[in-house]
Amino acid sequence: MELNTFDFIAREQERQDRNIELIASENFVSENVMRAVGSCLTNKYSEGYPVQRESGNCGRYYGGCEVVNDLEEYCCGLWKQVFQTDYHVNVQPHSGSSANLAAYFSVLRPGDRVLSMDLNNGAHLTHGSPVNFSGKLFDMVFYNVNAAGYIDMEDVRAKALETRPKLILAGASAYSRIIDFAGFAAIAKEVGAYFMVDMAHIAGLVAAGDHPSPFGLADIITTTTHKTLRGARGGLIFCRPELAKKVDSAVFPGTQGGPLQHVIAGKAVTAEEALTPEYREYIHAVVRNCKAMCQEFQRLGYNVVTGGTDNHLFLLDLTDTGLTGKAVQDELDRHGITLNKNCVPNEKRSPMQASGVRVGTAAMTTKGYTEADFVRVAGRIDEIIRGMAGQAK
Ligand code: PLP
Repeated sequence: MELNTFDFIAREQERQDRNIELIASENFVSENVMRAVGSCLTNKYSEGYPVQRESGNCGRYYGGCEVVNDLEEYCCGLWKQVFQTDYHVNVQPHSGSSANLAAYFSVLRPGDRVLSMDLNNGAHLTHGSPVNFSGKLFDMVFYNVNAAGYIDMEDVRAKALETRPKLILAGASAYSRIIDFAGFAAIAKEVGAYFMVDMAHIAGLVAAGDHPSPFGLADIITTTTHKTLRGARGGLIFCRPELAKKVDSAVFPGTQGGPLQHVIAGKAVTAEEALTPEYREYIHAVVRNCKAMCQEFQRLGYNVVTGGTDNHLFLLDLTDTGLTGKAVQDELDRHGITLNKNCVPNEKRSPMQASGVRVGTAAMTTKGYTEADFVRVAGRIDEIIRGMAGQAK
């Protein structure tokens, strides 16, 4: 019998049902998010923006937009409620990377200097990697983490004073501690730089009050909607109202064409869900579960970067075991446990091998895992790693 596309979808569904999912950036969305993203809204073109928004944007380039205009306004209103903010919001970015691209272009020109986190210490590709548009277009300089793995705020200030960046970026993909947004904002003010936060990983924690909020401190805030926010795959940009026009025109026509209205509907459902008391409880459980699992690894003798976690993820430093992060990721995959390799502070290996792994609790908490379940999984991972280390000797 010939294969068709739905065979692959069925296989992936089975994989997701079977595996223990510990990738810190993944989650499982609700049926309602699925329905919205799979809806007739995918058929609609709507380049531009609803009229009379605070940015002064003047409408769409297509007819028949009366429904999607209302939807997009509704979606924007919901996200302001989620983060209890009067910042302007743009819900059109197709992804976190697209959101960052547009955010940079709203206030920077190619060649401008940006101070961001060192990539080996937890930043995302779009924070200045030489293989990414960010590293190719802008003059990137980097701050570091200290020996314990915490962001070194003295280094941030010293680099800011020395290099005088036009924009300072805070936010990460693999950082397990509270980020001092107020400290960053003060440094940005001191050197006259824009302050941008990419809260993609921790946005759910910010929404639930489990991480300090960057609103009121940052000029521009980007996020994805599919990690701890547990929603449709996509991006959002928030900004101070005075930057609204710059941000909107950097999204469209600057870096995107027609918005994905089916995804905007999915983002609206995501926001509706994030506004419920159940969602807050879910995020509290994610953080509780993460602490419990992290502590179990420490009890079992593992080295955890920074010695713990404040959020939904932590990093195991496997240097002592002699195993690479890649070997451990591959072996765990064979046992139905999914996570990803990650560099550790002062990494000696290439990012393709890496000396650590990143572990996150957002996805399995959605599946109902408790602290006891995560402790049990830590034990299972330990058994597998010990088996590998034994063979290596
Ligand atoms: N920003 C951060 C901090 C991320 O961790 C990620 C993705 O993991 C992104 C941006 C990019 O998001 P996307 O994969 O949707 O482009």
